[in-house]
Amino acid sequence: MTGPTIPEAVIDLVRDADWITVFSGAGVSAESGIATFRDVQTGLWETFDPAELATPEAWERDPALVWGWYRWRAREVLAAEPNTGHRALAELGASRTVMVVTQNVDDLHERAGSDVVSHLHGSLFAPRCSVCHTPYDGPDARPSATDPDTEHVEPRVTPPTCPRCGGDVRPGVVWFGESLPTDDWQRADQAFRASEVVIVVGTSGIVYPAASLPERAVREGIPVIEFNPAESSVTDFATHSLRVSAAEGLPALLRALG
Ligand SMILES: [Zn+2]
Repeated sequence: MTGPTIPEAVIDLVRDADWITVFSGAGVSAESGIATFRDVQTGLWETFDPAELATPEAWERDPALVWGWYRWRAREVLAAEPNTGHRALAELGASRTVMVVTQNVDDLHERAGSDVVSHLHGSLFAPRCSVCHTPYDGPDARPSATDPDTEHVEPRVTPPTCPRCGGDVRPGVVWFGESLPTDDWQRADQAFRASEVVIVVGTSGIVYPAASLPERAVREGIPVIEFNPAESSVTDFATHSLRVSAAEGLPALLRALG
């Protein structure tokens, strides 16, 4: 089987590591056909600006529109499958500790079988009350792939009601202007501190404070290996930077490990 060549130095680092922390971004999901945030203006949603659907102000203005948007996105995710990159990471975790810290709001790493310790930007599948913050797991907490496709007729979907306080249930994602969830941030921080090697995949648009995690790893002498078809802000400081996608590079790494 042919494929990208992984440098010996990278293979050695990964082979010798008992704990690897993986930092993933939108590029990994894109290889499963999940449009990146800026590219999702299709069909029903092409008249909406995603940036204006992903803010606390949008939620205040029109909760049903925002709930409908995230429900549509969740359905898109449920219709997608983990790709070879997701699966290679899960397989890597069979022989060593592999902790995934992701900026993605989908569940493709989990469905591939990886341990996801942190969703830094929240999750499409963890709605909570917008008033009392209680996690919501009741009816309509998540769409099913077989739901009638009403979102393509009417973008607005009335959000569920919190059984505890009667507030509107909101998507469990981090919106523009909101801070990262404290628990997820702390778990990410711990996973980076404990790691012997950091693998960064699909994070072209990495932003602060998330970007500080791999930067600090390098400063502390932890090797950072980037898999990305394009240069990114991580390329500048990564120990090794490979111009290859996660779906191609990670299976090649796994084969090289033998
Ligand atoms: Zn509530």
